[in-house]
Amino acid sequence: MDKFKSELTLKGDTLSIKLSGHINEDTLFPVPSIKQGNLVFNFSEVTYINSLGIRSWVNYLKNLGNFAVALEECPPQIVRQMIMTPSFAQNAKVLSIYVPYSCDDCNSKKTVLVERAEWEKTGKQISEKLHCDKCNENSLEMDGDSEQYVAFWDT
Ligand SMILES: [Zn+2]
Repeated sequence: MDKFKSELTLKGDTLSIKLSGHINEDTLFPVPSIKQGNLVFNFSEVTYINSLGIRSWVNYLKNLGNFAVALEECPPQIVRQMIMTPSFAQNAKVLSIYVPYSCDDCNSKKTVLVERAEWEKTGKQISEKLHCDKCNENSLEMDGDSEQYVAFWDT
C-alpha cells in the first residue's frame, strides 16, 4: 500500500499541495500554512481512493475556509469520482485532468493531460483517437467518451 503523503510548496499567495499515495479513512489532509489565498491540489500521484477517503476529502474541502481552491492533474480514477460525486470538487476549479487511452491493436495504454484553458481555446474538443507509437497508427482510442470527462467543465 502506498502511504499517503502531502507536500506543501508556497509561492507568493499560492500554496501548492501535492498529494500522493492512498486516500482512505486514515488520511489526514494537511492544514494549509497560509490563512488566505490560493490552494492548488495536485492529484497526479494519488494511486487509490476509497469511499471513506472520498468522504473525508469532501469534508476537508468544505471546512477549508476562505481560499480559492483549484485541483490539477487529476488521474482517471479521481475524474471518475468527480463525475459521480459532484461534491468532490465543490467550488474548486478543475485545472487539468488525465484522459486515458488504449490501443485496440497492441493494448498499449497512455494517459494524456488535458488542461482546461487549452481545451477552451481549441474549441472544447478532446481527441478521441491518438497516435500509437508502437503500431505507428492512429489506433489509440479514448477509454469512455469525451463528454463524460468534461461534464464538470461545461457547467
Ligand atoms: Zn498500438
